[in-house]
Amino acid sequence: MQSSEEKTLDMSTPLSYIKGVGQARASLLQSELGLYTAHDLLHYFPFRYIDKTSFVSIKDLNPAETEVQLKGKILSVKTVTQKRGSRLVASFTDGTGRIDLVWFRAAKWIKDSLSPSVTYVVYGKVNHFNGTFSLVHPDMEPLNEYEKNQMQTLQPVYHSTDALTRKGITNKIFSKIVRQFLVDNHKFFKENLSEELMKSLDLVGKTQALVSIHFPKTPEHHNKAQKRLVFEELFFIQLELIRKKIIKKYKSKGFVFDNIGNHFNDFYKNGLPFELTGAQKKVLKEIRTDTRSGSQMNRLLQGDVGSGKTIVALITMLIAIDSGFQATLIAPTEILANQHYNSIKELVDGMDINVNILTGSSRIKQRRVIHAELESGELNILIGTHAIFEDKVKFQNLGISIIDEQHRFGVAQRSKMWKKNTLAPHVLVMTATPIPRTLAMSVYGDLEVSVIDELPPGRKEIKTLHRYDSNRLAVWGFLKKEIEKGRQVYIVYPLIEESSKMDYKDLMDGYESICRDFPQPKYQISMVHGKMKAADKDLEMGRFQRGETQIMVATTVIEVGVNVPNASVMVIESTERFGLSQLHQLRGRVGRGAEQSYCVLMSSFKLSEQGKTRINTMVETNDGFKISEVDLKLRGPGNLMGTQQSGVLDMKIADIVRDANVLITARQEAIKLLDDDPNFEKEQNKGMRKGYIEMTKKSSEWSEIS
Ligand code: ADP
Ligand code: MG
Repeated sequence: MQSSEEKTLDMSTPLSYIKGVGQARASLLQSELGLYTAHDLLHYFPFRYIDKTSFVSIKDLNPAETEVQLKGKILSVKTVTQKRGSRLVASFTDGTGRIDLVWFRAAKWIKDSLSPSVTYVVYGKVNHFNGTFSLVHPDMEPLNEYEKNQMQTLQPVYHSTDALTRKGITNKIFSKIVRQFLVDNHKFFKENLSEELMKSLDLVGKTQALVSIHFPKTPEHHNKAQKRLVFEELFFIQLELIRKKIIKKYKSKGFVFDNIGNHFNDFYKNGLPFELTGAQKKVLKEIRTDTRSGSQMNRLLQGDVGSGKTIVALITMLIAIDSGFQATLIAPTEILANQHYNSIKELVDGMDINVNILTGSSRIKQRRVIHAELESGELNILIGTHAIFEDKVKFQNLGISIIDEQHRFGVAQRSKMWKKNTLAPHVLVMTATPIPRTLAMSVYGDLEVSVIDELPPGRKEIKTLHRYDSNRLAVWGFLKKEIEKGRQVYIVYPLIEESSKMDYKDLMDGYESICRDFPQPKYQISMVHGKMKAADKDLEMGRFQRGETQIMVATTVIEVGVNVPNASVMVIESTERFGLSQLHQLRGRVGRGAEQSYCVLMSSFKLSEQGKTRINTMVETNDGFKISEVDLKLRGPGNLMGTQQSGVLDMKIADIVRDANVLITARQEAIKLLDDDPNFEKEQNKGMRKGYIEMTKKSSEWSEIS
């Protein structure tokens, strides 16, 4: 019997009103799984299905098994009492072997209901301990009831938690709740995609999709449901991101850089050491358009290592200065900040531009000068590390913030930067590691993206080789030859955790043996690692940069940005311990001059499958975008971007690696829709507006695009 009240249940109905849930279960589902409403319940999708027609034999159980379904009888039941309470153990057999069924709670009630004459179907997670198997708190049903209830062959399995199972919300109960809700309410579900969209993309309706994703009649039904729900999820995420982008563009006013003045022209005519590549020019044009538009620029600049982002950053800053603004360039490490400072100072030499640098190790006296000159407006360009984010640092009129190697900074820091001014400065974020297209769409979908997809002319492809540790002597011989030709070399050790004593020891041992194999005075060796004082690091970097040392033994502190064009060999020790993007970054330290460059990947014979894939990828290609695609497949989007951005990647059913093509379609469709009907006012789009609000849970934040 259904009351009229239940008939009006909709997607926003709190879980506690749903049949079979109630207050206690509702608060558990909320705290354990984050489910609040009917919508949440229905969009909590099974992560796999069990074929309910198949049973496992106990003799075939193996420790790798997770959930299994067994058919058999109870042999005996006993209560085992322990210090921390008692448990009920039933010995269960299917004729091929025995297994224990175990209950920790409600044992009395279960004991009374178990009957040795009944054949049961049990389902649960296999525990393996001391060579014996057991199922704890299994789902259990007499065979005749099981046969009566069986409506389809594929049964959903939902991710659960210990607390849920302990409190009796088993997988069986959970799916029963979902099934009941679907049976009672599916007639009232609303479609949230337009007819047109479903037709053109061959998608099933929402109701069918929800029913089939939880209780698929056949694998075919499941696939159709999944296709539809994956698209829907990606589509609404893209709508959200693109709407954000559009709204930002219209609502966040920005400084107008409308004066192409002396600095820019002077530099373009006299200061440019080379002709810009087509890609660099294209990107500068995009930046020019943004910074003239009256809206705040939020642009991501992607370019492979060595594609020449620094000069783009400098020219952008000159444009700001010409319009009377200050500019800042922020790098993730002091080495990199120093290097930017030195190269930019050299580039603007002779021009009337005041540049300074602020890092964690800047002296107080120097800081005072910087603070004063920033506030008076005398300082045009401030280069530095995150020290620039400190509250004491106040600009007179900061027009643009350029952040190099962005993935090192959290999003929080980015927004802190914006809050410093009344009007937010333009922001250009430069990434050194190319981000796969699909990932960029998801994580930076609300930013404009520029890509430098062309390297400066005349670059020789870096030759990458893989060598085992046992061949080190030959590698050293090669290094000596290169050094004789006047080249310099890097030898990099993993110091992944700066605090790791083992890594530190490896580095020191390595350094000592290199000193032995490359004796002074013929060879001069520098070393840089994270435990050194900043001043010492600078000193050593400087010696290598000036060519006073031929070998740089280092950790990944030199990973990003360091630019010594005369260095032509990069040797990486214990390559298997580095991630792909790190390896690509490290390799990018060579191949910066006119000479043929090499990257030698050293490893032991023992390599994992992933380690092999990483090394082979490095040997096969120099293309950072290709490498990032492989990295995405190996590590998954969350790991690639770090935890900060994982929120955006927290998807219920879509997977941007598996569903890359759907994502691209979803973005195109979202752009098309927002172009055509930005506020979903057309009749055929009204359902999508409701659906969008429901999916993004931002009904109160709906703002019109005008
Ligand atoms: P990244 O994009 O990795 O930051 P850089 O800005 O450090 O790259 O540039 C790498 C090297 O290429 C530098 O030595 C720079 O002077 C040089 N370079 C940049 N643009 C050009 C160009 N258009 N033509 C020739 N060399 C260039
Ligand atoms: Mg750079």
